[in-house]
Amino acid sequence: VIELVGFDGDDTLWHSEGYYQAVHAGFERVLGKYLDLADARVHERLLAMERENLHLFGYGAKGMTLSMLETAISLTSERITASDLHHLLQLGKDILRHPVELLEGIREAVAEVAREARVVLITKGDLFHQEAKVAASGLGELFHRIEIVSEKDESAYRRVLSEFSVQPSRFLMVGNSLRSDIEPVLALGGWGLHMPYHVTWAHEASHGVDPGHPRLLRVDTPAQIPGALRDLQLRAAGSEAMSLPG
Ligand SMILES: [Mg+2]
Repeated sequence: VIELVGFDGDDTLWHSEGYYQAVHAGFERVLGKYLDLADARVHERLLAMERENLHLFGYGAKGMTLSMLETAISLTSERITASDLHHLLQLGKDILRHPVELLEGIREAVAEVAREARVVLITKGDLFHQEAKVAASGLGELFHRIEIVSEKDESAYRRVLSEFSVQPSRFLMVGNSLRSDIEPVLALGGWGLHMPYHVTWAHEASHGVDPGHPRLLRVDTPAQIPGALRDLQLRAAGSEAMSLPG
């Protein structure tokens, strides 16, 4: 049976991606003073720069801010004014200060899951920013542990599971990203509960998850999470019974 449930933070517990998209729109408005936005494919260039810089800056708002500055300097051939660079920096700071708004019903869902299993928050990004969001969310005390990782890949999940002394087959991860929350957990032999958010960061859009995977369920709202956990518990019990010898 499932004894440990991981929850993603951004766009699973609280709203996030919308703020990033608003900043991207502000970035384009500033660059529009220098370039023909339709020709320059500003948005694609920014995404490419963010992707290129991930291995240096990691995930999060600070890396995105530096990538905005670098993209702006490069696309304007160093013509952008200090005043406009200052504006871009402010956009990045706005992200770090955005209010933490919980998804409707998520507090109740986490609390209900926590009555059946240990729950852990597993999130990635800037350590400082993520810690501030956890504190502002008021959800911290519901979790047995908060894990802030630099990348959500198989080795990160394996490390969290070994710290809890839990087999992957007894772990469920709940999150909005198939790439970060679901795919590596299924690959380890764990369970996935996908709760899509209405917008997805381009970087998270590519994945290799089969929507019909036997250890995967999908819900549309936080209120459906406890019921989905019960369904998955039945499946987990069934597969454990089948794997017993004789
Ligand atoms: Mg997320």
